[in-house]
Amino acid sequence: MPIDLSLYPKNWNQIANSIKNSANWTCEWCNKPCRPPGVSQKDTEQWLKDNHPEWLPHLYKIVEDYEQGIIKIAKPQRFTLTTAHLDHNPANCEADNLRALCSVCHLKLDRDDWNRTQKVRRMKLWEKHGQLTLDFGSIGGT
Ligand SMILES: [Zn+2]
Repeated sequence: MPIDLSLYPKNWNQIANSIKNSANWTCEWCNKPCRPPGVSQKDTEQWLKDNHPEWLPHLYKIVEDYEQGIIKIAKPQRFTLTTAHLDHNPANCEADNLRALCSVCHLKLDRDDWNRTQKVRRMKLWEKHGQLTLDFGSIGGT
């Protein structure tokens, strides 16, 4: 999903950082500890081993390689903390609309919204062609 930076307030980075600091760099949905910017992959691994070993398996994707057999591919981006707008409106930066979410949870939020938007769009199209009466009570998340 492309990001239109013109929709964000000028001090967005400052707002986003304060939300992340308030959440103690932890995802507010899944409680995953996330890494502040500038922390290398190697340091992230060591930091998880020392402080949050239960999250270490999430750092890797296990795949089978034809030559090397089972290998672990590090996925440090899963430990990136983002600031999400619950209503998907980048201009609404009220504290109750913002959540510190890891990249995985943020994608889930956006995906659920995209699915809902697509359902409404499809249903409006069907209604336009006389195939359906809109029932918004049936439109929910996935
Ligand atoms: Zn999360």
